[in-house]
Amino acid sequence: MKIKLSLLLLILTLIVSCDNNSVKLPVTRTLECDVLVIGGGPAGIASAIASARTGANTILAEKNGLLGGMATTGLVAPFMSSTTPDGKTLLIRGVFEEFVNRMVAKGGAIHPLNYKIGSYTAYRNKGHHGLTTFDYECFKRTAEEMCVESGVNLYYHLLFMKTDMSGDKISAAYFATKDGVWKITAKNYIDCTGDGDVAYQSGAPYVYGDGENGIQAVSLFFTVRGVDKAKMDAHNEKCLKNGDYEGQWYMNEIKAAREAGEFPSWRNKIALFENLDGSYTVNMAQSDGVDGLDPKQVTDAEVDGRFQIQEIVKFLRKYVDGCQNCTLAATAAELGVRETRRVLGEYNVTTEDAKNSVKYPDPIFCCANHMDIHKKGYVDYVARNTNDPYYIPYRALLPQKVSNLLVAGRCAAAERPVMAAIRVIPPCFAMGQAAGTAAALSVKKAVEPKKLDVNELISKLKEDGVYLPE
Ligand SMILES: Cc1cc2nc3c(=O)[nH]c(=O)nc-3n(C[C@H](O)[C@H](O)[C@H](O)COP(=O)(O)OP(=O)(O)OC[C@H]3O[C@@H](n4cnc5c(N)ncnc54)[C@H](O)[C@@H]3O)c2cc1C
Repeated sequence: MKIKLSLLLLILTLIVSCDNNSVKLPVTRTLECDVLVIGGGPAGIASAIASARTGANTILAEKNGLLGGMATTGLVAPFMSSTTPDGKTLLIRGVFEEFVNRMVAKGGAIHPLNYKIGSYTAYRNKGHHGLTTFDYECFKRTAEEMCVESGVNLYYHLLFMKTDMSGDKISAAYFATKDGVWKITAKNYIDCTGDGDVAYQSGAPYVYGDGENGIQAVSLFFTVRGVDKAKMDAHNEKCLKNGDYEGQWYMNEIKAAREAGEFPSWRNKIALFENLDGSYTVNMAQSDGVDGLDPKQVTDAEVDGRFQIQEIVKFLRKYVDGCQNCTLAATAAELGVRETRRVLGEYNVTTEDAKNSVKYPDPIFCCANHMDIHKKGYVDYVARNTNDPYYIPYRALLPQKVSNLLVAGRCAAAERPVMAAIRVIPPCFAMGQAAGTAAALSVKKAVEPKKLDVNELISKLKEDGVYLPE
């Protein structure tokens, strides 16, 4: 018995050695692919689909048990703009357009060219244009359907932890799983974690928030049912007609409730978004100064967010005509984190570039999203000098110092105001499609992503439906 015990202890010491600062664990499974996409939000979904369709053996590794990222686990809706400001031309096409068309066919979305001001845009008449709602379940299912049909190997419940490097190249990625540590090797890697986790662990330089520890506010989304749409719409129409800005946003009601100690959030305006099934998504529970990379801070903000939500529902029922009978339907499973790390890329899109619609030799998509920074209780808008769409270059997806890594989505290389605009769902799809296509083409051509012929990439993107007007 004693011998068995010491043998067991010896084996344990051999396979798990840890001190205060490090831990070594055995790898329990190894997988291999051409392109490894890490993170299955809007950017990761499009990356994986584009990579697989371009012929690469593609794995999509996601920590949760579903796709969609903030769009589903965060209950974030509606789709922000994907059109020109006049709503007449769809700018973000390709995988995003196909995704939306499939959802529209199932009754799970409204086509972005069919939005109605004051109704589905849910009282948003300033700052953004052409918001269209979608059904969360339809989003999840459509993403899985398109990934599976395209040949993506989906792996849920893999939490990326670290990479191994060989010079400036990632040689393996490691994931925490219920089964122990899994190792995945790939020719190219795409960081779609939103937070730039892979870039960070691989030594790529980055900026956090405003570069001086300032960070945008976080929000916990929720949905309510039982809202009287007719009453809310009539109120909105009346306020719009009379130019009653404060009335439109129920600012006086919020002020009164706050004075009575019955409004727990920093928000000064009501923010309800009508969904297809008559429920409403609400973006009113907010916390400031939360580091989205610190699990304890995120936990505390989630706990506080759910407390705020309970009080906000009471406020809606008591103060907002039309919401007297509303009840809480769901709270988001994860906190809505607007910003953490943005990698420094081969090119970092500047605010001036976006303001003036600067053209690049390597455009991968164009958009016209507003630049808005969410601060404690208000939103800062950065005005543009033109209504023309602006472009995003391929180099914004190429982190410095790591040669076989691309980034897409919220962690791509752009100055803060630009990222505040292109981090919304449609542009994240567009970045993802470009990153996935480039990663797969680079495997096919046996060249590093940074040395890929951009004209070939642009031709392929256009062939796959991406809109790139001259
Ligand atoms: C409060 C808030 C409100 C918003 N409102 C809107 C809106 O109304 N309309 C709109 O269009 N956009 C909105 N957005 C923006 C948009 O939802 C996100 O910026 C967008 O989803 C970013 O896409 P992404 O793919 O880069 O990242 P995410 O959506 O964050 O997806 C990242 C994915 O990676 C996974 N992941 C992260 N780390 C790891 C890891 N270490 N290992 C494995 N997997 C990992 C996550 O689980 C997730 O699935 C909002 C965002 C927030 C926070």
